[in-house]
Amino acid sequence: MSSKSPDRTRGWSGAADAVWAFDVDGTLIGSIRSDVLRPGACELLATLVRSGASCVLWSAGGADYARRMAARHGIEHHFVAFYEKDRRDADGKYRVDHFAAHHQPHVFVDDSPIDLRDDVHTIAVPQFIGGNLADAGLSSLLRSLQHAMITTTPTGEAHDG
Ligand SMILES: [Mg+2]
Repeated sequence: MSSKSPDRTRGWSGAADAVWAFDVDGTLIGSIRSDVLRPGACELLATLVRSGASCVLWSAGGADYARRMAARHGIEHHFVAFYEKDRRDADGKYRVDHFAAHHQPHVFVDDSPIDLRDDVHTIAVPQFIGGNLADAGLSSLLRSLQHAMITTTPTGEAHDG
């Protein structure tokens, strides 16, 4: 059995085939208002998928909860898998060894980065409560991503002059 382990030293901006793991509550939907999808969520996910990345969704509420929330907000189709976030290592950090080998994340997006291991690439976003529709946590991430995609396009096709 061969396995291709993720190159964790690679920056997220250059990895078109990267696996991105998104947290649910407070990251993609409101932590209090779970009926509110965070502004920019759809566009960010669509952009990642279009660029060749794979997105997985995981939650302390369980894999079924993650899938249910994604379906409720119409973003389920962006994810290749759903996982629970419930096992911690000796340091109290969430483990990802229950993820399929080809779903091992290169990048985590989470409003609680303290729960994730220090040696993984985590993009921390402020907690989204659900009430502020001017929240820019994900749209600023998307802007950074788009900028990185343009500036790392090898052939320079993305821009004229
Ligand atoms: Mg969270």
